[in-house]
Amino acid sequence: IACAYAMQGKTDPLAAAAAVVAGYHAVHPLTEAELVALFPLICTRLSVSVVNSALQRVSFPDESYLTISEPDAWATLERLETAHPRLAHYEFRAAAGLEPCLNAPLVTSWLRAHQDVIGPLLGAGGPITVLDLSLGSPLVETPVEPGDLPAFTRKVFERIRDAGAKIGVGRYDEPRILYTGPRFQADGNDRDVPRTVHIGLDLFVEPGTQILAPLAGVVESVRDNGMDLDYGPTMILRHEPADGPVFYSLYGHLGREVLGTLRPGARVERGQSIATVGDLDVNGGWPPHLHLQLITDLLDRDGEFPGVARSDRRAAWKSLSPDPNLIARLPEHLLARPHRSGRDILASRRGHVGPSLSVSYRRPLTIVRGWKQFLYDEDGLRYLDAVNNVAHVGHSHPRVVRAVREQMAVLNTNTRYLHERLVEYAERLTATLPAPLSVCYFVNSGSEANELAIRLARAATGRRGIVVIDAGYHGNTTTLVDVSPYKHDGPGGSGPPPWVRKIPLPDLYRGRFRREDPDPGRRYAAFVADAMDALGANGEPAGAFLAESVLSCGGQIVLPDGFLAEVYRRIRAVGGVCIADEVQVGFGRVGTTFWAFETQGVVPDIVTMGKPIGNGHPLGAVVTTPDIANAFANGMEYFSTFGGNPVACAAGLAVLDVIAEEGLQTHAARVGESLLQELGGLVTRHPIAGDARGLGLFVGLELVRDRDTREPADAEATYVANRMRDRGVLVSTDGPDHNVLKIKPPLCFEPADADRLVETLDQVLSEDYVRSDRTTGD
Ligand code: PMP
Repeated sequence: IACAYAMQGKTDPLAAAAAVVAGYHAVHPLTEAELVALFPLICTRLSVSVVNSALQRVSFPDESYLTISEPDAWATLERLETAHPRLAHYEFRAAAGLEPCLNAPLVTSWLRAHQDVIGPLLGAGGPITVLDLSLGSPLVETPVEPGDLPAFTRKVFERIRDAGAKIGVGRYDEPRILYTGPRFQADGNDRDVPRTVHIGLDLFVEPGTQILAPLAGVVESVRDNGMDLDYGPTMILRHEPADGPVFYSLYGHLGREVLGTLRPGARVERGQSIATVGDLDVNGGWPPHLHLQLITDLLDRDGEFPGVARSDRRAAWKSLSPDPNLIARLPEHLLARPHRSGRDILASRRGHVGPSLSVSYRRPLTIVRGWKQFLYDEDGLRYLDAVNNVAHVGHSHPRVVRAVREQMAVLNTNTRYLHERLVEYAERLTATLPAPLSVCYFVNSGSEANELAIRLARAATGRRGIVVIDAGYHGNTTTLVDVSPYKHDGPGGSGPPPWVRKIPLPDLYRGRFRREDPDPGRRYAAFVADAMDALGANGEPAGAFLAESVLSCGGQIVLPDGFLAEVYRRIRAVGGVCIADEVQVGFGRVGTTFWAFETQGVVPDIVTMGKPIGNGHPLGAVVTTPDIANAFANGMEYFSTFGGNPVACAAGLAVLDVIAEEGLQTHAARVGESLLQELGGLVTRHPIAGDARGLGLFVGLELVRDRDTREPADAEATYVANRMRDRGVLVSTDGPDHNVLKIKPPLCFEPADADRLVETLDQVLSEDYVRSDRTTGD
């Protein structure tokens, strides 16, 4: 009954039932007999339910409650019609941690015991090389299946040739990049889990290579399965050894002549030639290969059998199709898993990587590929990346990749030689900025940029005193921790040094002055006076003001109108300089303007850049005025070994090109505006959603336990981020109270992505954990 209810309304009812089975079995183990009975009982229960509803409708036509579950029960029954009862049984056994298919251990142990009677598989042998076709395979650059098929086919053959091999092997039990496209999306599953795990073994050889029967058997089927979902001409042999279990072997992508030679029922002897490897045409352009698969239960299928399985169904399908190397008999060491599991990586990190480096999400992700606004994990699950503003123009943008690759192949050296890329980039970058911001320094990170900015400010003013905003973060160096309240006021911090003073967060939602207050921008800015007084009292008169132009760690806070203008006025009045940290928010992200400081109508004296500037290539920049640059040129040379190298400049130029050519700034404005509107809808529907705010594609949703007290819902925000991750959407949390969901995706984020983000948020915000009202105890 519990399973029947859990299945209702689910696009993947078996998965829902399997989850119930797993949880139940963990506490109260099911017997093997109960597991056999479970699926028929579930179907019976659903049938009883629809029959009851029909009867009730006749007896009590006005009582709609009595038939409330009827449509869902019917829909579930209809979905289950296509589920093979034995497969359901295997899924439930897998959920209970048991060997799913009872025949599998019999088959594998018989094959292990009879290795010496198994004959060769191919008519022609030769050296072997194993190909990496995993999610992170370097053979595929575009995860859109089939991508550039001829190029892929060429690369496969080059790899085999370069390795001096005759046979290329594609592994069993390998989640593959080739199967992440729409063709492999399993029918109707809630999480869009594609079928990525290859449950056969591929042997890439010359087309026409003879295939021999490794064991005697009877032809079960010979059929052309086309290229649509299956493997072209396919033969399945049935093996029924006198002293062993029945099992099947499948041969796919065969030459067409097989369709006219052996008929179902024909007996084949070990070593008999049964088919040839088909050519490019039979394979729909894929490189010619034999797909070999073992099958322990044919599930009454007719002449075909899935060759790839969903990663979340791996246990059941690996039991249905055990490792075919039991009949191919290639050297095992060649076939070992080439990549480390997430668990293994995590264990190694614990030993060899500093423990203060954190890992995102309760269930850490092993990400092996990025493409546009998506990230892929090792199993081929695709995640909508709504938080990575470094991959500004999209993960692995081909234009940036090409620019870096081409320059890297030719020259990468330091800025002590003349190189046109450096000046071209400096010209292009400064052209995006208002006068007099015309002098560049190139570095390798946002931290290095801010570090240099502080040196410039000190050189220009002769003072160390600096005013920052509460909860600000500006980088990881010693000096930058000193100017980052986010760090020095947080865990492990020891407060600001005497030359740093902060002003309150100009937060219009929960700060001292709110949206309804008159002129909050100027009032927040007035706190600068206190900070400057405090610095003066410490003997460190203010020389600079450093702030982001939209606050990120502060909780995605849009500065109130007039705020920066007034702060700048006050700082400049005492001879200080103003530094705009655009590391998070620059390069068109805010939509209406290219630089976020422009939304405040100010011109800083120094601008720092990082993160998006190279789309992930380590690059940072400081741009300032000729006056400040001249003040800094006091005789001491400035040099950064890697800063401004030709490869970094190529990356930076490519990013500027893409932003312009793809119209990403306007796109950010358009998509960001409708996203913010949709998030506003969540604020009206969900009491916990207190405030939606942002500019362009730099957006936040603040969660509160109580709309009046605005008590921060920090645990709930963490819960929501983790549940979003489980549902395939990546966001993170931030803000001094850790209760703001942070949204800052690559700028190629589409309206459909915004819809998905908001829909998923809507669902997660409706979950019991978030809905429970902690303050009133309802
Ligand atoms: N400034 C801001 C606003 C940042 O968010 C960061 C990084 N999160 C930095 C500076 C430092 O940049 P990096 O990590 O590249 O050193």
